[in-house]
Order: sequence, then structure tokens, then C-alpha cells
Amino acid sequence: EIPQMEKIVSLAKRRGFVFQSSEIYGGINGFWDYGPLGAELKRNLRDTWWRTMTRDREDVVGLDATIIMHPAIWKASGHVDTFADLMRECSVTNKRVRADHVEPQSGVVMQFSGFSITGGSSHNDSITVLMRGGEHIESFRKRVRQLVAQARNQTAENIELHGESKIDAVEGSVDFHPETGGALGEARPFNLMLKTYVGPTATENDIAYLRPETAQAIFAQFKNVVDSSRQRVPFGICQIGKAFRNEVTPRNFTFRSREFEQMELEFFIKPDEAIEAVCGSVAAWSEGADLSVPQDNWGWEMWHRYWVKERTDYYAGIGLGADVLDYHWQTKEELAHYARACVDILFKFPFGTEELEGLAARGDFDLMAHQTASRKPMDVFDEEVKNAFAKWTDEQRAALVERKKAEHRAKEKGGLTDAQVDEWCQKLFKGFYVPHVIEPSAGLDRLALAVLSNAYSEVEKTDAKGKSETLYVMRLHPRLAPVKVGVFPLLKNKPELVAKAREVFELLRKHFSAFYDEGGSIGKRYARQDEAGTPFCLTIDFETLGEKGEELKDTVTLRHRDDGSKERVKISELLGKLLPMVG
Ligand code: ATP
Repeated sequence: EIPQMEKIVSLAKRRGFVFQSSEIYGGINGFWDYGPLGAELKRNLRDTWWRTMTRDREDVVGLDATIIMHPAIWKASGHVDTFADLMRECSVTNKRVRADHVEPQSGVVMQFSGFSITGGSSHNDSITVLMRGGEHIESFRKRVRQLVAQARNQTAENIELHGESKIDAVEGSVDFHPETGGALGEARPFNLMLKTYVGPTATENDIAYLRPETAQAIFAQFKNVVDSSRQRVPFGICQIGKAFRNEVTPRNFTFRSREFEQMELEFFIKPDEAIEAVCGSVAAWSEGADLSVPQDNWGWEMWHRYWVKERTDYYAGIGLGADVLDYHWQTKEELAHYARACVDILFKFPFGTEELEGLAARGDFDLMAHQTASRKPMDVFDEEVKNAFAKWTDEQRAALVERKKAEHRAKEKGGLTDAQVDEWCQKLFKGFYVPHVIEPSAGLDRLALAVLSNAYSEVEKTDAKGKSETLYVMRLHPRLAPVKVGVFPLLKNKPELVAKAREVFELLRKHFSAFYDEGGSIGKRYARQDEAGTPFCLTIDFETLGEKGEELKDTVTLRHRDDGSKERVKISELLGKLLPMVG
């Protein structure tokens, strides 16, 4: 039985959804190209996100920034110093590999750097295998042997893994060096940013980075957007664009790539103290809290929950419902020191349940970091906040200052000094603050992979002669389908049918992507469109021409992909029927 993921990868290539980048030269690890159907699918996904996140809302605006930015941005954001994975060098193969680490949802990544083939020689190739959480040790062993055997054109029984006997000892542990002789080298941090040079001299001073995330441009342009867009906090800035990470171990098809696209929103909100001054209280999240109440007094917790719900609704709207999603609320230990909360929205991929999107409440960490490094103010002025504090007594203000000082003193990392708290409070009392941020950050390529995995299905079909075959149906949501409708003349050698079919095709393609096909039997044409994920097909037949009576003239057969059902629809009613479903 071929694993589900392999079948999806194979269909993706065969039908032109995803190709390996530079395939004719052997490919390049961690890079993928989208073929004709994949390019349309990605474009549709991008459009649904953009529409939901900005066009349909009054409180979010868009940005389209450059991939290469001033390197000082990455210094200020912390990426130059800390955006790293632990990496080891294998002393047997001299290959750099990601250090073994526990993946909370999936298990233990193990590096095998040696094996031998029965009656043959030893090999020092390195292979990385993920031991899934809960996977039995015996099936894991078998799987590793099968993977090596596959690569070597051998049978699994002929493969002996070096250090195999040690596997028992590692169940549930983090660190494992199964290779004979040498162990993996020291684990050291490996910065994931890809570097390049800007300008003709190419010296150390000319180093620039390909952005590892799109978010930082939003922070760097925050003031320009505020000054030019008439947006007032709370509001958001969103962006879609390429990001690059020199991942040590790209894996699982497009899931972890080195070049990928992100869709990120930074939603700016008032600090709690400003809300408290204006509204008298700050609404915090509790089980059963009502998200439909006025947003004026929402604190960061409410906004964070709100965005988790918004994003969940978005996924449901493109066919990824509660049955295929899950959530991981990061524990205190997992949280970055500046994050107040972070939840990962997970998708049940064929290779395990993994992150699709992260939603973090990041406080004012990012804007403050750029304010300090660039020495340009990142605060906004809020008349309402100024007026609210004007009504406070001196005692009330002093109490707030003391409360903030105590809060910051209790912080293990990143807390302000008393003098800094004083300065912060005095500015706030005058109506100036640096906004806090809620960040929903999703990967477009990961989403495309989730959507492809979710759509993939197999249907067994038996023909008239009793021969059975497997047909593949991509049950893509009509909003995402690369082709919305296939248009077929029943027969290609009847000019009247062809002319009518072309007429219907021309009518529809002005509004959405349509595909004209006259080759092969109607069944074959349906099957081709099923594999492409086309939700609707139209057949123009003799009834359409009026040859079987006036009643059916100018009607076509509309066939639905998911249940194979057919209905007769007037050509004049096609657009009205299809547009709401595919738009
Ligand atoms: P992971 O833990 O999987 O490496 P991350 O937590 O580092 O992801 P973020 O930095 O939060 O990811 O990036 C936000 C989103 O960008 C992720 O949820 C994912 O969808 C996408 N993303 C991140 N790295 C990659 C990658 N190497 N390939 C494809 N998509 C990615």
C-alpha cells in the first residue's frame, strides 16, 4: 500500500499542481514550483485571504514591501542574533543535519548515519526519519529499513541499521546517535537567514538578508501607514509575500521549504492601561465570553481569541472545517519571552498533525525594538486616552505607575526599569502609546498543501466489462478550484455542437476560469476534470440544439463533481447559478 502522501505528491506532479524546482538538473532541496493548476490554486487562496483580511473589513489595510530590506531591521528584530535552529555535523558523513529534537505533535527526529546490506558492504549515507509520537518501536524499525531499502533498490530484510540495538533505549528520549564509530558533532546554532550582497563590492559591509518573514516590514512601515491611511488603533496591516529560510532539514513535500510565501496580519491594539482609562475596565477572556460585545474595552486576550475565531471561520469557508483542524496553545515554557500567548492552528496532514498558522499576542515588543534601534518614535497619539486620563486624580495615576513598576520588576526577561516605566506612564497620561500587536501568521504553501491533502480522494469504478479502476477526485472547494467549469461538446465532429459549446465557453470564461475540452469520451473528460478539482462540467448535446424538442433547447447538462449528479440548466441561467458558488 503506497502511503497517502506519496499518492498526493504523484498526482500533484502528474496534473501540474506542484513540480520539483530545477528538476531537469536533479532538483534543489527545499524549493518547489507550481504548475498551471497549482499557480491558479495558489492565486485563489491568496485572493480569499486578502479579501477576508482586508477588502471585507474597514479596519485592515494592505502592504507590499520588498524582500530585501535594510539589514538593521533584522538586527533590531532579533533575527541576526537568535533566528537559529540547532544543527550538528555528522562526523561520519560530514553532512550538516538538524540536531535531533522533539516535535511536540509528531515525535522524535532521528538521524541514521550508517547501515549495511546483508552480505555486502557498509554504507555511511545519512537518513533522517521521524519517529511519530506513539509509533511502536518495531514498526519504526521496519519503516527505517524500508526507506533505506527503497533508496538502495534492496529488500528491507537485507538492511541492517548500524546501532540498531540502541533504538530501544531512545524511546521517548531526545538525543540519539545510532551510527557506529563517530557520534554527531556538537550541537550549535545555525542561523536560518539566507544572505546576499547588495552593491558591486560584495564585502562584509554589503551583506543583506532575504526576509525570513514578512512581518518586520509591517512594523518598519507602521508610522507611514498610520500617517497615510486614516486608520486609528485598533487596526491592522496585512501582507502576502515570499519569505526565505535556510531550513536545515526541508521535508514533507512543500510543508517545510526554503522559499515559501507567508500571509501575515499585524493587528495593533491599545495597551490595557489605555483601555482602562477610556472604558473604566478591560474585558479579559473567560470561557463563554461574548465576542459580539463592543470592542472598545477589549483587552489583548479578547482580541487574540477574536482572531483565532476569525481565522477558524476563514478555514471553514474554504472547506477546512473543525474535523481537520486542531489547536495547540503554547505552554508558558514554550512561549517566547515577549509573547503573552500563542496558539498554533494545526492541520491533520497525512504525515501528522502539524502547524498551519501561528497566532501570537506579542505585546509591544516589535514596535519598541524598532523604536529603540531606529530612534524613530513608534507611538501614536490618542485624544480619547488623553482626555480620559485628564479626569484621573494624582493618586490614581501614582497607583497605576506603582502597579506597572511591580509588573515589570516581576518579569524574568525584558522588563523595564523603574525610570523607563515612569517615562512610559507620563507619555500615556498625555495620550501617547506604542500599540500592542496580535499576529496571525499563515503559510500560503502549507495551506495549499493542506487543501490538496484534504481534497484528495479515490473512487473505485467498475466499467461495463466488469473491469475495475481507481479514479482520483480532487474535492477542492469551488472558491479554490483552479478551473471552475469544464465545457464539452458531446461530439467533436458535429460542427453545430462545437460552435454552441464554444459559445457557452466564451460566455463563462469572462467571469471565471473555464476549460474547453472536446477530446475523448465524456466519461474520460469528466475524469480529467475530477483530477483537476473542477467542481462543475457542462455538456452541450443534441437537446441543446433543439433537436429533441423545443423544451430542452438552449439547456445544457450540468454535472456536479462530488456526487456525480446531473441536471438540465438553461444557458441563460448558468452564470446566475454558478457565480455565487465559485466567487
Ligand atoms: P515551524 O515551527 O513549522 O518551523 P514556525 O513556528 O517557525 O514554523 P512562523 O515563524 O510562526 O513558523 O511562521 C508562520 C507560518 O509560516 C507558519 O505557520 C507556516 O505556515 C509558515 N512557514 C514557516 N516556515 C515555513 C517553511 N519553512 N516552509 C513553509 N512554510 C513555512
